Amino acid sequence: MNNEFIESHIHDIPDFPKEGIIFKDISPLLASAKARSITTELLVRDFRGQTIDVVVGIESRGFLFGMLLADALNAKFVMLRKPGKLPGAIISQEYELEYGTDTLELQENAISPGDCVLIHDDVLATGGTAIAAAQIIQKAGGKVEGFNFVIELDFINGREKIKDYKIASVLHY
Ligand code: 5GP
Repeated sequence: MNNEFIESHIHDIPDFPKEGIIFKDISPLLASAKARSITTELLVRDFRGQTIDVVVGIESRGFLFGMLLADALNAKFVMLRKPGKLPGAIISQEYELEYGTDTLELQENAISPGDCVLIHDDVLATGGTAIAAAQIIQKAGGKVEGFNFVIELDFINGREKIKDYKIASVLHY
């Protein structure tokens, strides 16, 4: 019931950002206070009762529910950003894309050694971003407790890349 309600707030956009890709647009979900609150509750459900010191959100749509999750779990919130966006000393992690590579960055003092970390993003597709996120958190000394996503694209099987971790997704396609 709740899942159907959330699903009705995700729109399929054909041929975005390029031809042949059907993009899952979460904008209608962000626009609705009720949908945001149900989504946050569903995301929190699987990690409540577990020690989570830090919620890490992946740029940029991972910041949105990431912050709400951190509030709900009474945890710190930390941004993982694309290169050149974060000031001060940083730790970086390169990862493979379909064509070429990209990099994620983290502020050096953002994670304390031993911190229990929940990594959040809006969508799990190939899992390339997610595994890079886990690697950078571990480089910083954090312990990855798991991942959660609003949407998991099951047909791409990104969870294979992060199968050693707990994974919770609200919607599966
Ligand atoms: P991956 O590294 O798993 O292939 O891609 C995941 C990243 O791409 C996430 O940060 C996510 O925001 C973005 N992404 C890939 N496909 C979609 C999509 O259909 N909708 C949205 N909203 N984001 C997507």
